[in-house]
Amino acid sequence: MNPNKKVKATGFIALMLTLSVSQVEAAYMRADRQDSLAQPQYVKEIVKLSSNAKVKKAFATIADLEAETRANHILLTEIPAPPFKEERRAKKFAEMLRVVGADSVWIDAAGNVIAKRKGAKGGKTILIEGHLDTVFPEGTDVKVETRGDTLAAPGIGDDTRALAVLLTMLKAMNAVEIQTEADVLIAGTVGEEGQGDLRGMKQLFGKDGLKIDAHIAIDGTSTDRIVNRGVGSHRYHIAYKSDGGHSYGSFGMVNTHVALGKAIAYWSQDAEAYIAQPGPKTTYSVSVIGGGTSVNSIPFEAWMEVDMRSESDERLQKVDGYLQSALQKALKEVNEGKKFGNDLTLEVKMMGNRPSGGGELTAPLTQRMMAVIQQSGGTPKLSASSTNANVPLSLGIPSITIGGGGLAHGAHSLGEWFVNKDGKVGIQNALLILLAEAGLN
Ligand SMILES: [Zn+2]
Repeated sequence: MNPNKKVKATGFIALMLTLSVSQVEAAYMRADRQDSLAQPQYVKEIVKLSSNAKVKKAFATIADLEAETRANHILLTEIPAPPFKEERRAKKFAEMLRVVGADSVWIDAAGNVIAKRKGAKGGKTILIEGHLDTVFPEGTDVKVETRGDTLAAPGIGDDTRALAVLLTMLKAMNAVEIQTEADVLIAGTVGEEGQGDLRGMKQLFGKDGLKIDAHIAIDGTSTDRIVNRGVGSHRYHIAYKSDGGHSYGSFGMVNTHVALGKAIAYWSQDAEAYIAQPGPKTTYSVSVIGGGTSVNSIPFEAWMEVDMRSESDERLQKVDGYLQSALQKALKEVNEGKKFGNDLTLEVKMMGNRPSGGGELTAPLTQRMMAVIQQSGGTPKLSASSTNANVPLSLGIPSITIGGGGLAHGAHSLGEWFVNKDGKVGIQNALLILLAEAGLN
């Protein structure tokens, strides 16, 4: 799960026993940094690949296409793609992929746009994708404002840049007639953000039956960053319900708010004690609460929405377990304390379930991407996040998330902007890692 597996076990365990939690965390980070250069065999592989004549030509084509990349970027950003309403953008993106040229382009049952480019050998499939959806609700003004070299609009960086990157990458591959060994799938995916709950990826790796061997997500812009660990999350909507009544006249009946308060207190106490133990970062949050009618009424409902996250599935399950027992404990206590009336009831609805996984630093896909970044003059920075890569990583399928190049700021805010600073490097890197995985015929 974590890079410390590479550190000599006995020494490291002895070290851990004598260190405080923050010192252990610092040791984790140091281990990360030490290991963040690619092994020589992968550096060699990528150097060789980038000196190939066709690859060089493709790189030049990518540079020549900058104006077109920018035009595609603006066009797609201005087609709204609110959560669960990606169809319009999906249709346009599919049409644009067809114009650039692939063996087949289709939209699957979840709404993902998929272009297939057949390999010379087949038998292996590599997926590279960016997500179509934004976090912005319907009606958000998505007109792109250009101020000098800055493009400003909600969603411009996260993740519309990736869609423009994919189109240019494919166009360059076609222009110089690059043929891969493996089949390549280029996709625009749905449901990456928030309550979309990675439904596009779940479809691609589930019902679509595509047998994908490796996955590369383009999300964000940084060309140094590799997300190779998936932060898993659980999210719930929880409600205590009762009949409710007059605060004076019905005094003695169950109170939903008391139950909710107790549950929050028990959960935070247990979760806090648990996550204080050294291990992968794990968090929990009581994020939204509500319920009640007026100051002189015993409420008929108290609800909350909670979120918990961890790189480790074991730790996530544990914190979830503390939540479930806290909810039951509070329910029992309030019901036992009632003077009259009906019992409280409890409803627990799971709103989100993102699996965690990954983190093997020696995984060839991660090593190759580190080598690609070094080749472009950058310094690889490995990190953990919740992205589309969570789905394949949880299935044990090699997966990383990389940046599409350029400089972006203000993701998930109305003030989001993008500057095409060395943007071509992101596209060239995407092509190089794709070719390294798919094989150049
Ligand atoms: Zn994103």
